[in-house]
Amino acid sequence: MRIGILGGGQLGRMLALAGYPLGLSFRFLDPSPEACARQVGELLVGDFLDETLLQRFAEGLDLVTYEFENVPVEAARFLAKRLPVFPPPKALEVAQDRLAEKAFMGGLGVPTPPFHPVDSLEELEEGLRALGFPALLKTRRGGYDGKGQVRIGSWEEAPKAFQALGGRGLVLEGHIPFDRELSILGVRSRTGEVAFYPLVENRHQEGILRLSLAPAPGTSQALQEKAETYAKKAMEALGYVGVLALELFQVEGELLFNEMAPRVHNSGHWTIEGAETGQFENHLRALLGLPLGSTAPRGHSAMANLIGHRPDFAQVLALPGAHLHWYGKAVRPGRKVGHITLRRDTWEGLAQDLPHLLTLAQAPERV
Ligand code: AMP
Repeated sequence: MRIGILGGGQLGRMLALAGYPLGLSFRFLDPSPEACARQVGELLVGDFLDETLLQRFAEGLDLVTYEFENVPVEAARFLAKRLPVFPPPKALEVAQDRLAEKAFMGGLGVPTPPFHPVDSLEELEEGLRALGFPALLKTRRGGYDGKGQVRIGSWEEAPKAFQALGGRGLVLEGHIPFDRELSILGVRSRTGEVAFYPLVENRHQEGILRLSLAPAPGTSQALQEKAETYAKKAMEALGYVGVLALELFQVEGELLFNEMAPRVHNSGHWTIEGAETGQFENHLRALLGLPLGSTAPRGHSAMANLIGHRPDFAQVLALPGAHLHWYGKAVRPGRKVGHITLRRDTWEGLAQDLPHLLTLAQAPERV
């Protein structure tokens, strides 16, 4: 079986690495000749909207998936006329728009932060009157890793925030004083079989995920079930196939939906070593209609991203239970270039070495 992947970043690279034991091979399409997945499969370089290139990409493939959520929906639809594309392009379309995804989940009865569409200064004022301060103004499309959003603390700040984000295609959200950020990863197979990983606690810095703890410490069964119900509703409504990630805010016993990613997700990297079956393998099993693997955690894991920093590999690997993933990308400030997963049998054992893990993962000037 030959699988096409739109996007050639680290998620694509890890998908291929998980697929080789299953006898799969991979072809990637990415605008950059430097895309790091080129190390593990054939890479076609060019524009996602170049139909001649898409045609060439599709040749000889059994199915197509994506590892990058800003792939133009038109590209996914063009390919879907020729061969199976999973997750369905509809999921890509919904997830690319912060307003559409909140309206979609809200429509399924999933709680979200209060939100208000903004295409004019009048609508922003209307929204601020309804939601109060502070509020967050976000671009509907294209923002990631905390980019494309501005906090508005007063009426005076509103016009500047509006201009800074381009003045249209925006959404205003009430600011949620959450206890913590969580994510749930669900996976749904072509056969309709579903499975869920345990809730993960995620800590961000400057809008970028720094640390995931899995299973999220101190999580009740009721909270896990609530998250699974939300993910299941989304997957069923979309006729979803593959891994779906929901990012959530926990406020006491409640979960509010923040955003979804129709792909394997950074907060699931711990599953490679920390779960019976990793997210990458389960995504591929789902696409192929093979039985899903167990999502049960193996002990407790912490995943720290390496952001613009190459640690001393020997120091990392000297830490018992540490697993290093280096994506083979050029190191640049703010760029995810690898991650370390630390896995231990007990939470206490993991917690003891967390400070050491974080020191290893951070560039020295940041510690
Ligand atoms: P986003 O790109 O929309 O996921 O936002 C990036 C980060 O901003 C989230 O991970 C949260 O830490 C924070 N954030 C986003 N929306 C809200 C909100 N409505 N209330 C409080 N914090 C938020």
